[in-house]
Amino acid sequence: MDFAFNDEQRLFAETLRQYARSKLKPEYQTWDSGTPYPREKLRELASMGITGLRVPEAYGGAQASYVTAGIAAEELARGDYNTTLFLQLGAMCADIVARHGSEAIRQEWLPKLAGGERLLALGLTEPGAGSDAAAIKTSARREGDYYVIQGEKASITFAGSADGCILFARTSGAERGSRGISALLVPLDVPEVSRQVYRSAGEKLTRRGSLIFDGARVPADHLLGAEGTGLAQALGGFDYNRALIALACLGAAQESLDETVEYAKQRSTFGKPLAEREGVSFQIAEHLTLVAGARLLAYQCLALCDRGERHSKEGAMAKWLGPKVAVDAIHACIILHGWMGYSDELPYVQRLRDVIGLEIGDGTPEIMKGIIARETFGRSYMIYK
Ligand SMILES: Cc1cc2nc3c(=O)[nH]c(=O)nc-3n(C[C@H](O)[C@H](O)[C@H](O)COP(=O)(O)OP(=O)(O)OC[C@H]3O[C@@H](n4cnc5c(N)ncnc54)[C@H](O)[C@@H]3O)c2cc1C
Repeated sequence: MDFAFNDEQRLFAETLRQYARSKLKPEYQTWDSGTPYPREKLRELASMGITGLRVPEAYGGAQASYVTAGIAAEELARGDYNTTLFLQLGAMCADIVARHGSEAIRQEWLPKLAGGERLLALGLTEPGAGSDAAAIKTSARREGDYYVIQGEKASITFAGSADGCILFARTSGAERGSRGISALLVPLDVPEVSRQVYRSAGEKLTRRGSLIFDGARVPADHLLGAEGTGLAQALGGFDYNRALIALACLGAAQESLDETVEYAKQRSTFGKPLAEREGVSFQIAEHLTLVAGARLLAYQCLALCDRGERHSKEGAMAKWLGPKVAVDAIHACIILHGWMGYSDELPYVQRLRDVIGLEIGDGTPEIMKGIIARETFGRSYMIYK
């Protein structure tokens, strides 16, 4: 068992940590206003290799390992947790397009995704179907050389800013269940698509919202993979993305703890620094331990994924534990900073609001425990098959 990153990964981590602290962190709170994230900032992330991490080299990307993507999630989150969403969606969408897109679609989208010129959203959830993804109703009806899309996708990260969406829609009736769902790459700047950005409690940089399709026509060659394979494509990506989510949450938590350690050395009460009080230092010691444990679980998932081994259980464990441990740690950092912790002058309340979003997104704690139980007891016992 080897717990060390290789030299290239270590250098990548150091470079990103420096970039996150010097460039992203000073602006983190600025984007909490919901102002659209400028495209030149996205191109800057692209120049750091973030948007092209999972794009194949032949299309201008780095084709990096999943462990390397995990390093990027963890380090970026130290500066601006929300920028990790470009990495997460970038990786999942690039993997789907590279594996299931036609050559024309790959040529059209992958180099621009890697270069930060285009942004893709992933549209699965609907107003009436989230955890139970097989219950979606949005339809893609074949008409000659086109599919015609009708329906609403809800709670979609980047709904307000994406150029296209990997859309999961029914190409056959509900009686086919998950086998009636297909994936299509749908350009969004057409009159038959409207967008509604939510007043979200956090992750405002991502302009999460609804995408409403009212008869949008998509060329038939924009189908990704065979009809009926859409949900399997999405679920394959979710398994590793759950570890990326965990590492993003844990990166934000680790930065908060590191800052709190420094604060505890400087702030004195009753004639002594807080750091000399075991009531404070033991709390920090506990959170550091839990963050370190959850982090290892997430990297274990990504290492399994890189080796081509099954990693659904580890992904679900990481996704349940990572955000939970991060929320608890950041909450403690708020309290340990006293009244200043509970102000917008410091980043902790925003970090807490931001991290809570991905306790829900990509699968709730209940659904994660359902997957862990399914992988343990066997499929026939479980609700989430
Ligand atoms: C920040 C954020 C970003 C998101 N980004 C995207 C995106 O980019 N694309 C996308 O498609 N979706 C996205 N989502 C949607 C997300 O995937 C769904 O919110 C999630 O899957 C849960 O679905 P739901 O909200 O409909 O809750 P529901 O499925 O209605 O569940 C409600 C509650 O009931 C619990 N529950 C449900 N079923 C069971 C059960 N069988 N047993 C026990 N408890 C159960 C759930 O855990 C939850 O607590 C995002 C959500 C958030 C918050």
